[in-house]
Amino acid sequence: MREATDEGIALSTYGLSSGLCVDPIEKKPLFHFYPGSDVLSFGTAGCNLGCRFCQNWHISNAKRADRLVGEADPQAIASAAQRKNCRSVAFTYNDPVIFAEYAIDTALECRRRDLRSVAVTAGYIEPAARSDLFSVIDAANVDLKAFTERFYRRLCRGHLDPVLDTLSYLVHETPVWVEITTLLIPGENDSEDEVRALSAWIRDELSPDIPLHFSAYRPAFELKNPATPAATVKRARRIARKEGLRFVYTGNIPDRDGQRTLCASCGEAVIERRGYRVEKLAIESGECRRCGAEVPGRFLERTTSTNMS
Ligand code: SF4
Repeated sequence: MREATDEGIALSTYGLSSGLCVDPIEKKPLFHFYPGSDVLSFGTAGCNLGCRFCQNWHISNAKRADRLVGEADPQAIASAAQRKNCRSVAFTYNDPVIFAEYAIDTALECRRRDLRSVAVTAGYIEPAARSDLFSVIDAANVDLKAFTERFYRRLCRGHLDPVLDTLSYLVHETPVWVEITTLLIPGENDSEDEVRALSAWIRDELSPDIPLHFSAYRPAFELKNPATPAATVKRARRIARKEGLRFVYTGNIPDRDGQRTLCASCGEAVIERRGYRVEKLAIESGECRRCGAEVPGRFLERTTSTNMS
């Protein structure tokens, strides 16, 4: 949110947070970025999209005064992350695109302290503004909300192409680690054809190594469609894997298979998860412990135990 000042237009939410919370990085979701680590999450208020199914609608639709509960300058946020032994700070809840100045300063402060920065974003940003934000970001989970312009226009008050452009930019022109989330909404974006087309686009235009998370929708805000059946989410995962994506996950449903990371070379379960908790990590310096194949992502140089339970 911006307001006019004597110096020009200023970000009115700078230094104000709608809440700070320590989460497992798996909750963002990021499954290939320092698995098992904690992340300090924060956001502000407002959004540049208007999703009718927004799970955080009370934040994304809020005006500045009614939701920003705490003062938190970039130094205070980075310092809190250090105190809480977090590996990273996440800009989330609403979208860092609309509080970029605040996110950038916080990311720079994190860098000075050897902390990583994560953007959880819809990727709806003008090309000219991308590099300012993403040059200081280490990982992003980007919502690819659907694969039709109709969905974006009707349910998000936005457009599909800018999101596809942002994804291509991130994957091909930056070192940012990227994972994608698609919330499946019955009757809106869950057809076999659409899931197949979305998966094929990721494979051909990005990489088959980009992790894709299908998650189940629950009715929220203005949209009243029924909740997504678990079978729909599992079916989407099967389709995406058949299209050649190597790391496809399910979310918001109980599904051990859909939470597991398999080595693309030997099939070993290199990461086992239960909910947001990592129970087994068999990756050493970014390689499968069994066969030595590289596992795409960002991992600690050395891990000391295979069993994290
Ligand atoms: S982009 Fe995210 S935060 Fe913004 S309205 Fe849509 S779902 Fe809500």
